[in-house]
Amino acid sequence: MVLKSTDQYLDSLRQMKRKIYVQGELVENIVDHPIIRPSINSVAMTYQLAMEPEHEDLMTCTSSLTGEKINRFNHLHQSTDDLIKKVKMQRLLGQSTGACFQRCVGMDAFNAMDSTTFEMDQKLGTEYNKRFREFLKYVQENDLVVDGAMTDPKGDRGLSPSEQADPDLYLRIVEKREDGIVVCGAKAHQTGMINSHEIIVMPTISMTEKDKAYAVTFAVPTTTDGIVYIYGRQSCDTRKLEGSSIDVGNSKFGGQEVLTVFDHVFVPWERVFMCEEWQFSGILVERFAGYHRQSYGGCKVGVGDVLIGAAAVAADYNGAARASHVKDKLIEMTHLNETLYACGIACSAEGRKTASGNYLIDMLLANVCKQNVTRFPFEIARLAQDIAGGILGTMPSERDLRHPEIGVYVDKYLRGVAAVSTENRMRIIRLVENLTMGSAAVGYLTESMHGAGSPQAQRIMIARQGNLDHKKKLAKTLAGVKE
Ligand code: SF4
Ligand code: FE
Repeated sequence: MVLKSTDQYLDSLRQMKRKIYVQGELVENIVDHPIIRPSINSVAMTYQLAMEPEHEDLMTCTSSLTGEKINRFNHLHQSTDDLIKKVKMQRLLGQSTGACFQRCVGMDAFNAMDSTTFEMDQKLGTEYNKRFREFLKYVQENDLVVDGAMTDPKGDRGLSPSEQADPDLYLRIVEKREDGIVVCGAKAHQTGMINSHEIIVMPTISMTEKDKAYAVTFAVPTTTDGIVYIYGRQSCDTRKLEGSSIDVGNSKFGGQEVLTVFDHVFVPWERVFMCEEWQFSGILVERFAGYHRQSYGGCKVGVGDVLIGAAAVAADYNGAARASHVKDKLIEMTHLNETLYACGIACSAEGRKTASGNYLIDMLLANVCKQNVTRFPFEIARLAQDIAGGILGTMPSERDLRHPEIGVYVDKYLRGVAAVSTENRMRIIRLVENLTMGSAAVGYLTESMHGAGSPQAQRIMIARQGNLDHKKKLAKTLAGVKE
């Protein structure tokens, strides 16, 4: 068995020496940094739940590579049942953290990489799949967290990678050596990057031959020389420095996004899984995006469960729970949330085996899943704000509540139903704020819009996968059209 405890995970983070900047300051100790720690706690939940017997079936599985019991986040899906359990695991973690728990990008990268490198080897006679599986075995045997890094900064969106004024705006190979390659560039919006032990870098778009220096995939430890991490700001992030558990809304958990710069980073050949094979970059991007679009049918649903619960409690505390329009809004929120889940389960159940043996989701349904995710959480958030009330934007702080002089006024005038303490009402309202406009809104809303590709990216895939010709044929047959 190769499962790490949460303490072992935290210790492993303490031992890593890296160049990490948060708001202009170099941070040595990320584990005890108040802005970073909640995001670490979210990843730590993926270790904790794997140790709990009641979650064993969802959180762990048997490795197809080693036969050992491993964390499901490091698994190559071996069946549609594995794909379904993945989504259920993500819903469970969304419910447990109310945040992005970050470890899915690595899992989605592994599964996209496995089938793509296998097909590359079949066609080109390369040995990328063997190298990749050696790397994955190491990850499984050490129960590591791996960041899947795809998104380049992209500069001028109207130009291809090699046409950019600055050639580093897409990550590229700058030197090929006998012992490996040297790369330059950056990966933007990297979820959970500094909470990870390793990084898998992938291209961000399908490439043409003139962009072949940009068709590169590899894995390096996050401690590799030449990598610089610049922590992304989130709305209300400095509230975490104030020491108030009420005002942050969710004091324990959070997400993390990092701008990651690769300044002449060396990668040995055994860690290179694509090197200029530009014909395969598109398929890798599509598969990774497909898996991550499936993921959102789990994680965002779990966070949605928390938000629906928070809105319902706010209604109870406001004395509004019996109003028929409030009940109807909660029904609508549930309907939207379960529709997302239905898509996540459906694209998993309709998955299929790839040539390498792992399972791929149904691409059309995964893209429909994510397209809905770009909309429904916004409507769920709107309804939650409607139910919670305007106090969401005007409420005094915990310090005011605790103040020797004015605390009595806050306590008196912020009370809802008499039986519930003002403190509890404030806590629930702050949680709604956190999820819909505070730091967790990055995960629940911004990421729902842009994570795993912005809405238009899914529409392109839906157009490609929708099989309109087949639908036209059906119509013509029934209408008796003869051409
Ligand atoms: Fe996982 Fe969701 Fe975060 Fe992506 S957004 S890493 S799927 S929790
Ligand atoms: Fe994401």
